[in-house]
Amino acid sequence: MIPGARLIILGRQGAGKGTQCVRLARHYVVPHISTGDVLRAAVREGTELGQEVREILESGGLVGDETMIGVVRERLAKPDAGTRGFILDGFPRTVAQAEALAEITAERPIHVVIDLDVPREIVLERISSRRVCRDCGTNYTSTGSDATTWICDVCGGDVTQRDDDTPEAVNRRLDLYETQTAPLIEHYGNLGELVVVNGVGHPDNVFKRLTDVVESRR
Ligand code: AMP
Repeated sequence: MIPGARLIILGRQGAGKGTQCVRLARHYVVPHISTGDVLRAAVREGTELGQEVREILESGGLVGDETMIGVVRERLAKPDAGTRGFILDGFPRTVAQAEALAEITAERPIHVVIDLDVPREIVLERISSRRVCRDCGTNYTSTGSDATTWICDVCGGDVTQRDDDTPEAVNRRLDLYETQTAPLIEHYGNLGELVVVNGVGHPDNVFKRLTDVVESRR
């Protein structure tokens, strides 16, 4: 296993991206940088950033490019990202963010951009049963009505449904994905940096497809 992978994982929210990114981060021993997790933590902690983005997150909208670029610039400047690499999950989400990222990573370019492809209908099904650890971001699948909070197997944190996993917010995010984020696929495709990976199937099979792509590109 070669250390120092620098990856971007794109895909619709609920495509299984989060779970696969957590797993890839453990496999390659690199930090998993989820901009959604960073923002949710800021909201929980009531920081200035949290106050700025709280309502946008609840409604399923997109946080402004300038704010997001600042968040990622600051995170990628930390030593672990420089020495060990990183997996970016949820960023970039617009072409403007992608252009800023190219500038931020100019000295150590991204190895590969992966589009984890799962059709919208399947995503809607998955999101309604999604439960997430508030502390470490591990995803779980609910099998029925579970009103009580679970405890995370990985870190002992609270496992709950995300506030923005309501049908209205989910549909809004999926619409935004089509208009704002899908052009990124074309952007990275034109640059020859994109690999589309089929995200449908057993998570172990999807993980194997992802690591095959990473190994072939490094
Ligand atoms: P996620 O956990 O990636 O689904 O992100 C949750 C929410 O955080 C999104 O619905 C957006 O409101 C916000 N967010 C996360 N990453 C970004 C980004 N790169 N650009 C704009 N908004 C973002």
